[in-house]
Amino acid sequence: MEINKLLLTFAICRLIVTVGLTVDPAELLRLGVDGQLSVDPSDVEIASVDFGLLSRAEPMAVLHPASAEDIARLVRSAYNSATGFTVSARGHGHSINGQAQTSSGVVIEMSRRRSRGSQLGFGNPNPPQVSVKEMHADVWGGELWIDVLRSTLEYGLAPKSWTDYLYLSVGGTLSNAGISGQAFNHGPQISNVHELDVVTGKGEILTCSEDENSELFHAVLGGLGQFGIITRARISLEPAPQRVRWIRVLYSSFSSFARDQEYLISLYGNPPTQKFDYVEGFVIVEEGLINNWRSSFFSPRNPVKISSIAADGGVLYCLEITKNYHQSNVDTIDQEVESLLKKLNFIPSSVFTTDLPYVDFLDRVHDAELKLRSKGLWDVPHPWLNLFVPKSRIADFDKGVFKGILDNKTSGPILIYPMNTNKWDQRSSAVTPDEDVFYLVAFLRSALDNGEETQTLEYLSNQNRQILRFCDDAGIKVKQYLPHYTTQQQWVDHFGDKWSQFYKKKMEFDPRRILATGQRIFTPSF
Ligand code: FAD
Repeated sequence: MEINKLLLTFAICRLIVTVGLTVDPAELLRLGVDGQLSVDPSDVEIASVDFGLLSRAEPMAVLHPASAEDIARLVRSAYNSATGFTVSARGHGHSINGQAQTSSGVVIEMSRRRSRGSQLGFGNPNPPQVSVKEMHADVWGGELWIDVLRSTLEYGLAPKSWTDYLYLSVGGTLSNAGISGQAFNHGPQISNVHELDVVTGKGEILTCSEDENSELFHAVLGGLGQFGIITRARISLEPAPQRVRWIRVLYSSFSSFARDQEYLISLYGNPPTQKFDYVEGFVIVEEGLINNWRSSFFSPRNPVKISSIAADGGVLYCLEITKNYHQSNVDTIDQEVESLLKKLNFIPSSVFTTDLPYVDFLDRVHDAELKLRSKGLWDVPHPWLNLFVPKSRIADFDKGVFKGILDNKTSGPILIYPMNTNKWDQRSSAVTPDEDVFYLVAFLRSALDNGEETQTLEYLSNQNRQILRFCDDAGIKVKQYLPHYTTQQQWVDHFGDKWSQFYKKKMEFDPRRILATGQRIFTPSF
């Protein structure tokens, strides 16, 4: 511990010299946390980068908290400090643009996974507590969704709304929205939370919900980490299905594809047997991806040659849907799926079906991660762009972007699926387009250094800018999901009508603007 104190003093002194920070080293040393404040180079390195690999910022130190009180102590110290320093919670570091980084303060490593916290004996302070009677789970803010799932399944229960990938933290996704193919039905993850414990920017620990400290509750959900650090979330649960029928069908016509997707999400009010449980889709703009995509599905009944399908402007659209079921309903599942599929207008010979355990379906992206890791294709720059596109302009977006700007080339999946705005609580900080239905369009691309010009970071970043410019010029009022802006005016435009409330609540809950500065919305007041 003494060595750690020495290192910490050294690190702070170095910062004083290099960035002119004037924090008193004794202030941090006096914190007296039960966890560990570390300046170990491996901790600092992990906290300096994220999944995007597009930006880098070295924190002064990293806190592995042992409790919410540790977090409150650190934030209080930053808030009361004569000189001030910033504090950024880091969930699993799966942001793209340094949103969980800070170069003028301390990063709190919320998740025990991948960090040294667990090796040091600072696992997540509280394991998930499941209430079967109330159908909810109380989980630590740094818990990963995969671990939430594993805990709740022990009781035959599971959260209702998901992200496609489960190695993300609860606090991280709730700070954005948390969306996947269930969102049309249950809303995003932020619509499925009953209560939170939050450490505000003043270092107070507050419990909040619809009924208690409701302003803080709504501000924090989708709040990009600006109002407080989520240390506990009470997540709504449902009985966990046992199996999933997973179906993909193809379209060559965008209008048929969009019509069917919109029809399927309009069924959200139907009884469970008369709607799908998950509606997503993706765009196939190049032959290589068709083959890739094909290899993950096997359909002996339909040996279709996809390359023989005439694509509209060289682009195909794949609708992806699932139906959950229990083993006891195995006799009726075929019939339920058939009667739903009958109403759709996909290419008849293009039905690909598979059947798997519920957990395997939810954890599907992890399989892809392992494959990419084994080929050295995971830890590469990810210039991702996620947009919410209003339904009224999605056909223009298709024409201008999928069939235009992309020029039949991509470097990763392009997801597209619609959601119902009425499933989003407008009191939250999350921002959606001003229409009843909007689409997520996600360009999840990896930049490679393989000599292909169209796969370089520069090319893909330019293309992202071109897409945003196209929307601007065409008057398509998109909203960025997992937004990234560099000027406050851009943030004001992003939040639109919500900005004045967002600003007011920031001044109330984090008046020194020390939290989550990696979002680049506010400048700290020191
Ligand atoms: P971080 O990146 O660590 O943090 C994100 C922001 O939240 C930062 O500003 C941070 O300071 C703040 N923060 C973190 N923890 C807390 C906390 N406890 N309290 C308050 N603020 C906090 N998103 C979807 O919605 N749907 C998807 O299907 C989806 N799939 C993805 C797949 C992959 C492979 C990747 C890399 C990302 C995906 N995402 C998806 C995006 C993901 O939701 C965001 O990256 C989100 O930020 C969660 O990541 P994280 O937990 O690592 O948070």
